[in-house]
Amino acid sequence: MSVRSGTVDVSLEALKGLLARIFERNGCSSATASILAANCAGAEAAGSFSHGVFRVDGYVSSLRSGWIDGAAGPEIYSKSPAYVFVDAKNGFAQVALHAARDIFVQRIRENGVALLSIRGSHHLAALWPDVTPFAQEGLIAISMVNSFGCSIPVGAKKPLLGTNPFAFAAPIRGEAPLVFDFATTSMANGDVQLAAREGRTLPPGIGVDSSGEPTTDPNKILNGGALVPFGGHKGSAISLMVELMVAGLTGGKFSSEVDWSAHPGAQTPHTGQIIIGIDPSFSEPGGFSDRSSQFIAMLRDAGMESYPGLRRWRIQDKGSVTISSAMFNRLTEYAAE
Ligand code: NDP
Repeated sequence: MSVRSGTVDVSLEALKGLLARIFERNGCSSATASILAANCAGAEAAGSFSHGVFRVDGYVSSLRSGWIDGAAGPEIYSKSPAYVFVDAKNGFAQVALHAARDIFVQRIRENGVALLSIRGSHHLAALWPDVTPFAQEGLIAISMVNSFGCSIPVGAKKPLLGTNPFAFAAPIRGEAPLVFDFATTSMANGDVQLAAREGRTLPPGIGVDSSGEPTTDPNKILNGGALVPFGGHKGSAISLMVELMVAGLTGGKFSSEVDWSAHPGAQTPHTGQIIIGIDPSFSEPGGFSDRSSQFIAMLRDAGMESYPGLRRWRIQDKGSVTISSAMFNRLTEYAAE
């Protein structure tokens, strides 16, 4: 670990260890703590700052509120060869995915396509860590998560939708997987919180205040206001799909049904997640593998130097992370409490 003015360079392994201690001290089993720590430290290292160490306050606060069970053991069951269900039992979605991953991959490879349906789960993280490993194994994965009512669908007057991220990962022969992952709101809630914390105003078009008037003040969006979907009616429709696919298929809650009022401090939406897995080796002969690399060559020929996922792929082996001294001190205090 090295300390410079206002920042601390900490090795990725040391950061994972520190985060795991924090999660364990706040009620997580050691297995859950290490899954969350790897996820959170990995997001920080990849520059996903809205879902890196910034989220530790939210995890701790939720665990301490009794809203989430950090020691929950997921229950896996199946109703058909291509449909794998997990009841997260009020635990973290990443833990449910970890538990069901092997059987899910087996079902994708046997059937060509399979669905993983997770309910009773909490997701406060980026989605790309959930889908990228499938592409590294040669599979295509699409995932969706709904969250809590904080975004107003186009044409409505109430915030019925969550920030509802959507992620896609596909293997590209001989190259980094193509991975994208975004909130279906014009900005991720975590970025609005970061702007509020840092005293920044937002660009126009991100959200509205409690009277429904457009505002660039992140505090007004967070306190009684709402976000709006990205891309007007188009992003709004994608977010409707996320609600229907996730809450509808998993039996989890719609974002607007999440009610944490009895657990002050709760910040992890208690909803569900789906992952659709496809084995592209089932495609037509000479299919996906050739076509994916042809496609990337076409993009490059058209002048596109990068594609979604490449930036993160290139920095993934970075062995250390730079965080603010204030954040490092906060984490150290949490670990000691
Ligand atoms: P971003 O706008 O940061 O990124 C969207 C996607 O576009 C990424 O895959 C990114 O890839 C890619 N991208 C960004 N800029 C470029 C560029 N110039 N050229 C090509 N590709 C680009 O996402 P959001 O702010 O909307 O979301 C941030 C995170 O918040 C996501 O990880 C999401 O999962 C998470 N989230 C989680 C929620 C939850 O409930 N758990 C709710 C809402 C959001 P790359 O990073 O490789 O550049």
